[in-house]
Amino acid sequence: MNLVSFSIKTKGVHNFVRRLGTVFTRFGFSETRIRRSLHTLIDCLEQHHTAPTFFIPAVVLRRHPTLLSEIANCGAEIGIHGYVHNDYRTLSKPEQYRQTQQAISIFQNTHIPYDGFRNPYLGWTEESLDVFTALGFAYESNEAVLHDVIDLNRLSPLLRSGYEKSLALFQAIPCNVYTLRPHFEEKLLRIPTSIPDDEMIFDRLRITNPEEVGRIWSQVMQRVYDFGGLYTLNLHPERGVLCKRALDILLSYARNQPHQVWIARLRDIAQWWKERRQFRLNITPLAPNRWLVEATCTPRATILARYLMVENQPTSPWSCPDVLVESRCFTVHATRCPYIGLSLQTPQQVADFLHEQGYPTAYCSQEEADLYALYFDIPGRLGTTREEQLQCRSTLVQQIEASEVPLLHFGCWPNGSRAALAITGDIDSVTVQDFFLRVLEVHQHV
Ligand SMILES: [Zn+2]
Repeated sequence: MNLVSFSIKTKGVHNFVRRLGTVFTRFGFSETRIRRSLHTLIDCLEQHHTAPTFFIPAVVLRRHPTLLSEIANCGAEIGIHGYVHNDYRTLSKPEQYRQTQQAISIFQNTHIPYDGFRNPYLGWTEESLDVFTALGFAYESNEAVLHDVIDLNRLSPLLRSGYEKSLALFQAIPCNVYTLRPHFEEKLLRIPTSIPDDEMIFDRLRITNPEEVGRIWSQVMQRVYDFGGLYTLNLHPERGVLCKRALDILLSYARNQPHQVWIARLRDIAQWWKERRQFRLNITPLAPNRWLVEATCTPRATILARYLMVENQPTSPWSCPDVLVESRCFTVHATRCPYIGLSLQTPQQVADFLHEQGYPTAYCSQEEADLYALYFDIPGRLGTTREEQLQCRSTLVQQIEASEVPLLHFGCWPNGSRAALAITGDIDSVTVQDFFLRVLEVHQHV
């Protein structure tokens, strides 16, 4: 599918013509306009001691290596957004592999370090995940978590149907405590991204007032904060200047939460999730209802305790019911062992899943079940199809989070942060020429 047919398919002919008009106002014939937009975003984030993550098609990088080096030197992360701006769902696996490899060699030749991949149109397939793993990417950022913060009833039927078409195109998944966390599939980290993105808000829903856009983004932030997850905001840098006010509103909203929101690049989030994977909690009984806890982790690990008493060690308030434990070796008083018990027939896959979610687990027999804070007997796999897996995993995490039992666990984010925020953007084009070349390039690579 090329740009023209994609746009017409999801937005209609009228909208496509309307969009063409805006191309000349957002892009220029030189790099000047986009350079200004990129620096606007970088400066905005620098005030919060962080930087954005941009994704760019390799052919666009090849035409603008100096601009992208300049942006990377300012601290922005640059990830790969395809060789050309095409939809991988239309490509065979060998072709996905070939084009991804081509993209990598352009990044290498221009000396731009990359860690991650985001597909144009978030168009990932199971084959893409194999390709990214085989080619050594640290992460991909394609799973689109839908935040239904838009009141669809106030939209005209035409706008509403366009909006619903884009949800289907982006393979949207529901928002819950589990889907807002990154997760490993083999060696590849999958970092969720969020929709609606700026294009859906500005172009499809025609919401262009910066205050209102800022309010929508803050609403998403609040919901992500409540779930303790990650908000990956997606905006196209050509709207950088237009979005500045809205971004400022979002960033100060995030900064004003009672507990810290970690604002980071996706590369930093990927490194953190890899580091966190090694953490372990070792819990041994000392006496009835008393347990020695020894944590193997790095200094920035967040150790949380709920419904138990930490003896002789300071704790700090955190999001209820958890408190933050500073010490790495401490004693707790609890009515049950603060582990999650698993029946002997529960597969290792379940233990690995719970470990990644931050919960300590121990295998035990049915007779010992009562000794543990929670006990699960899950004889099979956690779902077979991807949809079932998503459902089972979401339900399990929600069940654990809702249980009023003594439990120790690792928080998702470093240094006691409650949630995380990443500002990301796809640099689909730098100039007007790039915009029109996309049509040709995609046509040549189907
Ligand atoms: Zn794109």
